[in-house]
Amino acid sequence: MIERGIFVTINQSLDEKVVNDIARLYDTEIEKLPTLEEAAFRQEEAEDVKDLVPRAPVVTFMGHVDHGKTSLLDMIRKTKVAAKEHGGITQHIGAYEVMLKDGAVSFLDTPGHEAFTEMRARGANATDIVILVIAADDGVKPQTVEAIDHARAAGVPIVVALNKCDLPHIDIDKVKTQLSKLNLMSEDWGGKTIVVEVSAKTGKGIDKLLEMLLLEAELLELKANPKTVAKGVVVESELSRGHGIAATVLVQNGTLHLGDMVVAGTHYGKVKAMINDRGQRVQGAPPSTPIEILGLSGVPQAGEKFFVAKDERKTREYCLKKQSAEKERELSAPKHVSLESLYQQIEKGQIKELKVIIKGDVSGSIEALQKSLGELSTKYIKIGVIHSGLGNVNDSDVVLAMASNAVVIGFHVKVESKAQQTADKEGVEIKLYNIIYEATADIEAAMEGMLEPIAKEVSLGKAQVRKTFTTSKVGTIAGCYVVKGKIARNAAVRLSRGGNIVYEGKIASLKRFKDDIKEAAEGFECGIALAHHNNIKEGDVIEAFEIQKIARRLKDK
Ligand code: GDP
Repeated sequence: MIERGIFVTINQSLDEKVVNDIARLYDTEIEKLPTLEEAAFRQEEAEDVKDLVPRAPVVTFMGHVDHGKTSLLDMIRKTKVAAKEHGGITQHIGAYEVMLKDGAVSFLDTPGHEAFTEMRARGANATDIVILVIAADDGVKPQTVEAIDHARAAGVPIVVALNKCDLPHIDIDKVKTQLSKLNLMSEDWGGKTIVVEVSAKTGKGIDKLLEMLLLEAELLELKANPKTVAKGVVVESELSRGHGIAATVLVQNGTLHLGDMVVAGTHYGKVKAMINDRGQRVQGAPPSTPIEILGLSGVPQAGEKFFVAKDERKTREYCLKKQSAEKERELSAPKHVSLESLYQQIEKGQIKELKVIIKGDVSGSIEALQKSLGELSTKYIKIGVIHSGLGNVNDSDVVLAMASNAVVIGFHVKVESKAQQTADKEGVEIKLYNIIYEATADIEAAMEGMLEPIAKEVSLGKAQVRKTFTTSKVGTIAGCYVVKGKIARNAAVRLSRGGNIVYEGKIASLKRFKDDIKEAAEGFECGIALAHHNNIKEGDVIEAFEIQKIARRLKDK
C-alpha cells in the first residue's frame, strides 16, 4: 500500500479495486464475503423445498380517487377481522390479516398506486395481488389507468373489484368494455381477468372477492418456509409516545420471534414486543403476517427490507456502514437513468431496455410519440413505454420512473411542482418537448451510447529484452530494443517467454538512459520496469497494446 502511496491503518476498509490489484500482485484469489443482508437472503435459496408451505397473498387496493378503496378496506376489516372472538379491538397497524375458511389474506392498509410504487422504489415488492377498484357508476378514469400501469410495471396480477354495485342505473358491460380495451378482459367474456361486482356499502360480493383472491393466490403458488429465520418488509413505522419506535412489518419468509435481532434498513434492535392487528401480543409471526414490532433503534422507511441477524457486533457494524453509504449516496447526484449519462450507466449496469413514461396534452400526439419511439427499438436495445397518459407530469409519474428506472417525457405539458421536487431529489430525468422529432432525435442519440461498445485490442509495438538489471528502488529493469512499432508509457503491456504469456499489466517506468520518456520508437533502446512484476528474463518479449472501445452505431442494427 505504501508503494502505491496509500497510507492506511490495519483495520481500515479498502476499495475493492485496490484489494483486487494487490491480490493479483501476490497471485492470490479473493473470496468476497456477502454482507449480512446478502447472507440472509442467500440462505433462502439454499433452503429445503420440503419446508415450503403455501402462504397468504398480500393484497393492495388501487384505483381512481373516490371509487371506494378506503371503504372496501374498512368494510373488510370491520366484518372479517375476528376482533370480537378474541376480545380484542382491531388496531390500525398499517396492515391486517383476514382469516377465511380456506386460508388467509393480508391487506396493506395504505391504498393507492403512489404508496405502492414508493415502496417498490425502496426495493420492496410486498404486494402479491392488486385489487383494482372501479366505481361501476364512473368507469375507467385516468388514475385507473395509472394504477394498471403501476401494477404491470411491478409485474403484479390484477383482480378487478367493480364497486358501488348497489347504485341504480349502472352499466357493468360498459366498464367491462373499457377494461377489455386495456387488456383486462373479464373472464365471463373469455378473458383472463377476474372481475367481481361488489359494494362497500352493503357488503355485497365481498365474500366472493376474498374467495377470488385465494384462487388467484393458488395460481401464483405463493410459498414460504415458516421454519427459517424471518425476513420481510417494513410497511409503516413511527416514533410513538409511550411505545418508542413502532414498526409494522410484513413477514415474507420465516417466522419472526420475540427476542430476534432485526435489521430494518439502517436500524436494528431486539424485538421486545410483537402486537398483531387485533391488538394482541404474540410470540411469533409466520409468513404473510403483518405485525407491529417494538425495539428498533430508529425509524425505518416504509418499503425497507428487514431480516433477522445473529451477531450483534457485526450487525452494528453493518448498520453503521450502511448509514454512511446512504449519506454518500444522497450526496452523489443521479441515481436513475438519464439520457445524458446513459452511456456510463450502461457501461456499469448494462441496461438493455430504456423505459419511458410519456405524458402529453392530447392522445393523438401521445400515440404518435409512442409509435416513433417504438420504431427506435433495435435488437440491442428495446424502448419500453411503461405508462402514458394525458396531463402534466405528476408525482405518480416520477415515483413510477424512480421505481422502474425510467425517464419521463412530457409533450406539450408542464411538470407539477411536487413532481419536480421529487425528481430533483431522486435524480429522475424529465424531458419536455414540443416537437416529436426533437424527442426521437434526443433518444436516438442517447441510445447510441446505450449500445455496448465493441472492445478491440490494438497492438502498438513489440520490444525484445536484451539485458536485465536489478535496482533496490524499482526492482527488475529490462533493457529492451523496440523491434516493431512503439512502446508507450501509458499502454498496457504483455510479457511473454517462449510464446507463453507470463504477465499482463502496466509499465511502471519507461526510460531512455536516465530520462523518463513517453514512448520509445522502433529501432531504439529503452529501459522498461513493469508494475509489480520482477520476473523478467533475457529473450522475453514485451508487447504494448491498447484497448479501443468503438461505440456501436444504430446503423449496425
Ligand atoms: P377512495 O378515495 O377510493 O378511498 O374512496 P372512498 O372509500 O373514500 O369512497 C368515496 C365515496 O364513495 C365515499 O363517499 C363512500 O361513502 C362512497 N362509496 C364507497 N363505496 C361505495 C359503495 O359500494 N356504494 C356506494 N353507494 N357508495 C360507496
